[in-house]
Amino acid sequence: MYPAPISDYFAPSTLEECLDLLYHYGSQAKIIAGGQSLLPLLKLRMVDTPIIIDINRIIELQEFGEKFLEPGKRILRIGALTRHKTLASHPLVLSKYPIISDAAKYIGDVQIRNRGTIGGSLVHADPAADLPVPILVLDSTLRVISKDGERDFSAEDFFLGLMMTVVEENEILAYVDIPSPQKGTGAAYSKHSVVFGDFSVISVGARVTLLEDICQSSRIYVGGVNPRPQRAVNTEEFLQGKTITSEILQKAADVMAEEIEVESDMRASNTYRKILLKHYGFNVLSKAIQRAKEDQF
Ligand SMILES: Cc1cc2nc3c(=O)[nH]c(=O)nc-3n(C[C@H](O)[C@H](O)[C@H](O)COP(=O)(O)OP(=O)(O)OC[C@H]3O[C@@H](n4cnc5c(N)ncnc54)[C@H](O)[C@@H]3O)c2cc1C
Repeated sequence: MYPAPISDYFAPSTLEECLDLLYHYGSQAKIIAGGQSLLPLLKLRMVDTPIIIDINRIIELQEFGEKFLEPGKRILRIGALTRHKTLASHPLVLSKYPIISDAAKYIGDVQIRNRGTIGGSLVHADPAADLPVPILVLDSTLRVISKDGERDFSAEDFFLGLMMTVVEENEILAYVDIPSPQKGTGAAYSKHSVVFGDFSVISVGARVTLLEDICQSSRIYVGGVNPRPQRAVNTEEFLQGKTITSEILQKAADVMAEEIEVESDMRASNTYRKILLKHYGFNVLSKAIQRAKEDQF
């Protein structure tokens, strides 16, 4: 199907210009970044918007790299227009933040990764999307801007539910800040999909900090099974203070499968999802531990 007619298309070249347009048109306008979620929705007529604001020319949204926010506090800043391809293959991501590449490299296919952006994926907030899980696992901060000012959200507060975030109609997600890894920390992500490169049936992301093989802290989220990624708090508590062995990781995966609420749908039964959770839980925790020993976030 073809989308309903669009009456106006704007391609602002500065953030200020874009915020003016959002302020002026509000609910009548839709931002387009990579178009990999918006265009299908327009074609299916699930979204109908008379005005499109194309943000691809805005340099401010293309920032990517490490910087010091203040002495001693380094972050990786990922501008909203950063493509999945960059997240999947950039040397900085691969060497220091490989969990992000774990998630980005299997998003859709090569065309989708070339066009799709982190901002679009996070604001679209599909429950089976890949990037929300590592963004949560890494305790990221997200900056949202409008003409009225700036708002910062922890990733935990950013996602509200099924395709719902804190971003209002007159606002734009500008960038994501990820804190630099603490020594002895590793993180990993993996997903199960029916077809290779498809949305996840379940996904698991984990971050673990070790001191001489003892778990100091962890952060674990499961995606694809609920309206938004669910934190595995009991599993985190189970791991706390334990000396990490293969047996402990197996038990942790059992706790994870026990505590996460899963439902059946056309892609998988809840029983199968529980089995998948044990398998992926164990594998992702093992990978995070291996990276912690190599200081790879
Ligand atoms: C065939 C297919 C397979 C896919 N497989 C996967 C997959 O395996 N895993 C996965 O995670 N995703 C998958 N996707 C989804 C898709 O890749 C992402 O949702 C997409 O990349 C979103 O980014 P975008 O830049 O294309 O966003 P767009 O489509 O341009 O925008 C999406 C939404 O976000 C809003 N928006 C965009 N940028 C901003 C911003 N900076 N501030 C505020 N609002 C903004 C738009 O208004 C729109 O509502 C798939 C998509 C297709 C078509």
